[in-house]
Amino acid sequence: MKNILVIHTGGTIAMSEDRNTGAVKPNLENPLHETIMNIEGVQVDVEDFLNVPSPHITPSHMITLSKRINYCLNDEDYDGVVVTHGTDTLEETAYFLDLTVRSNKPIVVTGAMRSSNELGSDGPHNLISSIHTAMSDSALDKGVLVVLNDEIHTAKNVTKTHTSNIATFQSPQYGPIGIVTKRGVLFHHSPSHRDQYNIEEVDHQVLLIKVVAGMENSIFEALCSIKVDGIVIEALGQGNLPPETIEPLVKLIDKGIPVVLVSRCFNGIVQDIYGYDGGGKQLKDLGVIFTNGLNGQKARIKLMVALEQTHDPKKIQGFFQQ
Ligand code: ASP
Repeated sequence: MKNILVIHTGGTIAMSEDRNTGAVKPNLENPLHETIMNIEGVQVDVEDFLNVPSPHITPSHMITLSKRINYCLNDEDYDGVVVTHGTDTLEETAYFLDLTVRSNKPIVVTGAMRSSNELGSDGPHNLISSIHTAMSDSALDKGVLVVLNDEIHTAKNVTKTHTSNIATFQSPQYGPIGIVTKRGVLFHHSPSHRDQYNIEEVDHQVLLIKVVAGMENSIFEALCSIKVDGIVIEALGQGNLPPETIEPLVKLIDKGIPVVLVSRCFNGIVQDIYGYDGGGKQLKDLGVIFTNGLNGQKARIKLMVALEQTHDPKKIQGFFQQ
């Protein structure tokens, strides 16, 4: 008999649509408590950890959740954990847990695109698929998984790709690593690597800036005058910037602020290819930290976690090569 803990945090999966106004809102009582879970071979415990829409989730919620899961999997008798979460920031919480929970037991994050009383509501199905995944021995050593719409994705690669479609969660470039069927949970790939950080708090201010054509120096100049511990830049193509941004960028690097580069393309990785003004080669020479395919919001999470361990840009560059 497996022991699985379901931890609710809120999101659409816990909301209902008001029949008069059409507004989708949180409930006082989580409607998932009514989901009938006739699953053989498992004891499911349920914890109402939070009941918030995921745009209200903060890094402070994430570290508290991570500590709770660490405790459940290492000091209590649970074989796996399922977290329900709003889909808007689900990938950020899932990746935070992937980096900070120290256990090889299954941790599955799920949500829903349709609230509990809408036609075709996907919450109960996603919850049950996630419990099946968390019960599966083949989910051991896979890192934190995201399960929705019968697909299993890694927290590292998954992203929300559609505002409303139930097939919104995709892993661009890599695809899902498994599927959930009526007969069982099947993995067809295994993640090759998982980063682990032992942190007690998350207390660094990291900003994410998206670059656009014709961007001038004003945003980067403004960043020089505010308190910020790290910056992630969603750059153009293979990792290039408009030339006007370089001067204030150098000031930020000279102040010792780690500047991490991702691409605004959702496939591929950033590299020091171009030798023109603002090109990747110049950025590399200036000490900008290159990443290995993470999207902007996840690179921000990773930099926040990394800054709890070191401020040394060389070590941080090492973390981002993995
Ligand atoms: N806005 C909602 C949230 O993230 C969307 C959802 O849960 O699907 O809380």
